[in-house]
Amino acid sequence: MAASSNEPAFIEDPNNIPAEAVPDNFVSYTLKLQEALPPVTWKNWYRELHWLHVFILFVPPTLGTIGTWYTPLRLKTGIWFVVYSLLTGFGLTAGYHRLWAHRTYKATRALEYTLAILGAGVVEGSIAWWARGHRAHHRYTDTDLDPYDARKGLFYSHIGWMIFKPRRNPGPADVSDLRSNPVVKWQHRYYLLLAFIMAIVVPTTVAGYGWGDWQGGFVWSGLLRLVFVQHSTFCVNSLCHWLGDKPYDNKLTPKDCVLTAVITMGEGYHNFHHQFPMDYRNGYKRYQYDPTKWFLWSCEKLGFATHLKRFSDNEVEKAELTVQLKYLHQKQEALAWPTEKSDLPVLTWEDYQRQAESRTLICIAGYIHDVSDFIDKHPGGPYLLKKNIGKDATAAFFGGLYDHGNAAHNLLAMQRVGILLGGAPHGLEEKFVPASQHLRVSRYNEYST
Ligand SMILES: [Zn+2]
Ligand SMILES: [Zn+2]
Repeated sequence: MAASSNEPAFIEDPNNIPAEAVPDNFVSYTLKLQEALPPVTWKNWYRELHWLHVFILFVPPTLGTIGTWYTPLRLKTGIWFVVYSLLTGFGLTAGYHRLWAHRTYKATRALEYTLAILGAGVVEGSIAWWARGHRAHHRYTDTDLDPYDARKGLFYSHIGWMIFKPRRNPGPADVSDLRSNPVVKWQHRYYLLLAFIMAIVVPTTVAGYGWGDWQGGFVWSGLLRLVFVQHSTFCVNSLCHWLGDKPYDNKLTPKDCVLTAVITMGEGYHNFHHQFPMDYRNGYKRYQYDPTKWFLWSCEKLGFATHLKRFSDNEVEKAELTVQLKYLHQKQEALAWPTEKSDLPVLTWEDYQRQAESRTLICIAGYIHDVSDFIDKHPGGPYLLKKNIGKDATAAFFGGLYDHGNAAHNLLAMQRVGILLGGAPHGLEEKFVPASQHLRVSRYNEYST
């Protein structure tokens, strides 16, 4: 199978991998075979503009902003702005994204047509084009095959990637299911007409026939609503890779953030989404703000949607725990810990007593501690320490005189300088090991030797 320069080979048959392929790194293999356009510079930028995208991105906000000077916002038109933003927004989030790009549920034909028509009102391309790019985004996140690669900056991942002709084709992604979907094919065929009707004609005529505000319908619910919903969804590619936390995997840029969830109708739990893209929810937790999840749940109850996919709680929680353990491990490694048993010199009882004549040594739980730096800081006063120099103060430390807390035990362990021959009695480790070391986060290979 020879690869043409523009269309990279898609390794579908594992028994027939091209000789030059590096099978364990498909991205670098594809990048090597694919020709890229030269970078956009100050000299060539005007030749590299993608004029259709430039028109869609800049004409509506310009006309809309000028229109606001001449068009006061009436209450009914304002309400219609919000309602129509939500409706067309759902076309994108529940339709384009969660139904067609990710197949997170099955929709009845009626719901499919409704979402395909509403989604056209956001003018972000046909489902076929949009979902193909989005699948590449998921498959090649944070690489040069990702069409809106977040590593190239906030502006690039927001709209920059559309302003200029793409330097590369997006990475290959399987969209055979979409090619055979009659609603997707129908929407693609009549896309320009549908987009014009849904973006401009419908919002204008509803306001015009409804309450006589033709101009307000055109400016506010048509043009400015279009700009508002477009930028809300563009934020999924930009802000959602820039702002927030990474609770399920911290390897790549997608992040979870309640603020971006509010802006994007629930798509802001993007770290979860990149880990579990087949889940119909982006806000996995019950309380997380995800109106698209609630919309789909309602569609299920009304019989318009079925087979809503939910990833197993066990695996979601495991992913979350993995990241938490990773952070705990980092925190643990940044702290100083007591000297290991094996690194301490072994002293007989007589050695210990002899050395204690010239040093402030105290034996507790089989360890010899040098408390010279601590003696003046001891909350119980220096006297109690002084009177135990050269003695075994185990019983005194563990309740005989005072039952010390976790912090005191941790601190004591930091002052170990030796271990007593014979050590502490077995079976009492739970008591003698400092609280901070009862549990520890270890890497899988730490105990392999
Ligand atoms: Zn997605
Ligand atoms: Zn993303």
